[in-house]
Amino acid sequence: MDALVTPSLEPLIEALRSVGYTVVGPTVKDGAVRMAEIWSAEELPAGVGDAQEPGGYRLTERDDDMVFGFAAGPDSAKRYTQPPRQTLFRMRDQEIEEVEPEAPRVALLGVRACDLAAIAVQDRVFLGRHPDSAYRRRREALFLVAVNCAVPGGTCFCASMGTGPKATAGFDLAITELAAPHRFLIEPGSERGAQILTAIPHRAAEEDDLAAAQEVSRTAATRMGRQVDTTGIQDWLPAAHDHPRWTDVASRCLSCTNCTMACPTCFCSTVEDITDLSGDVAERSERWDSCFTLDFTELGGTPVRGSALARYRQWLTHKFATWYDQFGVSGCVGCGRCITWCPTGIDVTEELSCIR
Ligand code: SF4
Ligand code: SF4
Repeated sequence: MDALVTPSLEPLIEALRSVGYTVVGPTVKDGAVRMAEIWSAEELPAGVGDAQEPGGYRLTERDDDMVFGFAAGPDSAKRYTQPPRQTLFRMRDQEIEEVEPEAPRVALLGVRACDLAAIAVQDRVFLGRHPDSAYRRRREALFLVAVNCAVPGGTCFCASMGTGPKATAGFDLAITELAAPHRFLIEPGSERGAQILTAIPHRAAEEDDLAAAQEVSRTAATRMGRQVDTTGIQDWLPAAHDHPRWTDVASRCLSCTNCTMACPTCFCSTVEDITDLSGDVAERSERWDSCFTLDFTELGGTPVRGSALARYRQWLTHKFATWYDQFGVSGCVGCGRCITWCPTGIDVTEELSCIR
């Protein structure tokens, strides 16, 4: 099936819901664009923009009704591929109860190209040498509706990482929002995506629609808020182990873990046991953890990385260099979230250019 044009996303949302998907899309919540369940296109953030900078995020008003006129917000698909907390099993009266991992049928609407790349990175982690069956079930239950970015944020650098701004793979459907007249060009990326499109009133995309969509992605690529030169990074970053910049960045890093929580590819977790007050029921859960916590690498009661310097150096070096050795790709997709959501405004692109 070829690309089509539709004036509204309402039929798409209805079609997804009619085949049993919970539709999760961008909404304005808590002063940010957050991903949450939506029932109608009316809930999309029409006329909302954002301003992002190191350590700063605020919503802005647009002078049009674009519904995807903002950059990636704090939420990524990670919340749905790897939930922040999941119960592994429960013990009641000495008996173990297996807990079936949840794998809800969710259609994520508005996934950016960088986040598709992040999902592909997570696939390598969780479906590679040691496949995680719960992850596989959640991935198979996800329907991905990508949106080609028109407005990169002030901290975005996907063009430097080769992951955006146009979605090229890994989606069921890809939308480009076009103006004057306001319309949506939708391309299928899978059989099930094409199947959903048959239920949507539309017209075939014409030459000027396709040219306008190309122009959206071309312009977005020239408007990245940040850039980084990654040439040879696998060699020079690990070799910079004793660079004085690590001391400088460590003096600003709070080890708060925000960067790793917001990062769509960071996948570290820990396992913890909790008992109820009676002591009759115990639960073992897995929850997100971070290489910035002091006890993450504890060995024999002593943290392996006891200083902020060692923890930050490990994170940045792993993300941009040694991740290649483990998974064959970069661990960074250039979404900029770690820059925006760092409370002290630490900017990975600035740190890398200082260390280079
Ligand atoms: S390291 Fe930062 S910019 Fe790169 S993927 Fe993670 S959050 Fe995004
Ligand atoms: S780099 Fe920023 S967000 Fe990450 S742990 Fe340090 S202070 Fe927190």
